[in-house]
Amino acid sequence: MNFFIRPKKKLAAKTHEAVIETPRGRVTIKAKRNRRARRMTLRIDATHDCAILVLPTYVALAEGLDFARSKADWLQAKLAELPERLAFADGALLQVLGRRVTIRHEPGLGARVIETDGELRVGGEAALLRGRVLRWLKAEARRAILTLAAERAALLGKKHKRVTLRDSRSRWGSCSSDGSLSFCWRLVFAPPAVLDYVVSHEVAHLVEMNHGPRFWELVERLTPHREAARRWLAENGAALQRQG
Ligand SMILES: [Zn+2]
Repeated sequence: MNFFIRPKKKLAAKTHEAVIETPRGRVTIKAKRNRRARRMTLRIDATHDCAILVLPTYVALAEGLDFARSKADWLQAKLAELPERLAFADGALLQVLGRRVTIRHEPGLGARVIETDGELRVGGEAALLRGRVLRWLKAEARRAILTLAAERAALLGKKHKRVTLRDSRSRWGSCSSDGSLSFCWRLVFAPPAVLDYVVSHEVAHLVEMNHGPRFWELVERLTPHREAARRWLAENGAALQRQG
């Protein structure tokens, strides 16, 4: 019954992994406890081809897995319709902040990563290429997000606190009550208008910590892209999580 003991450190939240058999194959379920969850939820993790099961504290793991089994058809269908994966390798074409960038492996460049003329030239051993591209992408994401966040916050006469980049699966951005912002670094693959909307949305929370009419008025003042961006993320969000 270890699973029911809350971990001492918040960050080390425990995940229990299980595999369920379904008529069309096996599905890996990662079960997580959430003290604030009021009911069980199940969603697809597009990066890891598995399902995330969120359990309120009062629901037993076995009951949660039964719930997941009862949704086997839905899980299989969702996993089957995930977009193709795009690996960071020589010749791969990425969209980076609206720019088309083809990865070129150039061992002779050493540890350097250079973007020129639509190419991302990555030096060093092939085994290190993925990590170098990832670091470069996160730095690009951070630069773009920091610039946007500062600009948008200034329009509201506000200043944000720390900005954290995460590889979050369930949300593209968040704003905490102390004014810190957090974003999924994978937004770097989205069109600039989408990034603009996500950043504007979180910055508007610096003033209104809710999703009421006044909040949406602020978002509208900051960005014209709300509806298009929401639609784009609904349609393409999973693809962003299939890169790298
Ligand atoms: Zn919000």
